Amino acid sequence: MSDAPEVYAAADLAQGGEVLRSLNPPARFAIFGDPIAHSASPRMQNAALQEKQHPFQYVRIHVTPPELKNALGELAAADFLGINITIPHKHEAVSLVDEVSKEALLMGAINTVAVREGRLHGFNTDGPGFATAIREEFGRPLGELRVLILGGAGGAGRAITIQCLLEGSPRVIIANRNLEKGNALAREIHGCLGKEISSISLDAKAEDLAKNVSSVDLIVNATPLGMSHGDHSPLPDHLLTSAHLVYDTVYSGGTTTLLKQAEQAGAESADGFSMLLHQGAKAFEIWFNETAPLEVMRSALKSPTGS
Ligand code: NAP
Repeated sequence: MSDAPEVYAAADLAQGGEVLRSLNPPARFAIFGDPIAHSASPRMQNAALQEKQHPFQYVRIHVTPPELKNALGELAAADFLGINITIPHKHEAVSLVDEVSKEALLMGAINTVAVREGRLHGFNTDGPGFATAIREEFGRPLGELRVLILGGAGGAGRAITIQCLLEGSPRVIIANRNLEKGNALAREIHGCLGKEISSISLDAKAEDLAKNVSSVDLIVNATPLGMSHGDHSPLPDHLLTSAHLVYDTVYSGGTTTLLKQAEQAGAESADGFSMLLHQGAKAFEIWFNETAPLEVMRSALKSPTGS
């Protein structure tokens, strides 16, 4: 795999994907995104494929928004078995596959596609991956945690919000920068699931935000704040206490300002590494209907030198 380029183009899938099928081993899995060069998914999925002795490889394919429909349409002819989908395609792809799981429809996004007998089946493993990550990090199931999701009406935030409701979290609060977007999601959820959730503005008066923060057990950051060095926290200082659990979905390899606030407050906290790992493991399980080699995937993801 060492002489393979870092990133393939959508055009490489055309005409039966000759370029990709001629690799050794042939590419039968990929991640589509724009940008895509930074993705760590090939590292963990190739380690899993090797561990389970599946004679295939997983590659990055740079797919721009205008290319998405054709790229998906060419997967079956190129003998692909599955793909992951990342920024900015997770929402758009829902309407471009043949079938979508009930949960992914509620989440309004797919990040995993399985190609079965020429048909594309869409799933969302971000939500279930998040639930497993919370259990692993804090030893508590989502079903017993009251949760506030910062950026809860964004892509990952919506998947997390829906997952919390599906798992029976006793309180779910969305704190979104764009309040109308949060309110619209709350109304939609009430219509689909018959469940009540609260929606507040991330720019709410400090005392309103403080009241909501103090009414939950788990605070989740699903905004991109923290991805860039020097980003401020989505929360003002002094709102967290040692009773809070704090999960930052950002995985930057460093400590975000929110995680520093958690540490100062004496709160238990974790970054988005575990969500990334578990969403990938759940995708592998969808493709192969077998248990993913979790520890092999975890080590590969941690290794900066993996392929
Ligand atoms: P997205 O769809 O663009 O949603 C971004 C959300 O953050 C929206 O709610 C948006 O609010 C809010 N937001 C954006 N900039 C903000 C700012 N400056 N201040 C306050 N709120 C802001 O993005 P996404 O794909 O969901 O990604 C969000 C985060 O999740 C990223 O950090 C990503 O790394 C992380 N993520 C992690 C994993 C994992 O496996 N660990 C998986 C998926 C995503 P508005 O609605 O007001 O615009």
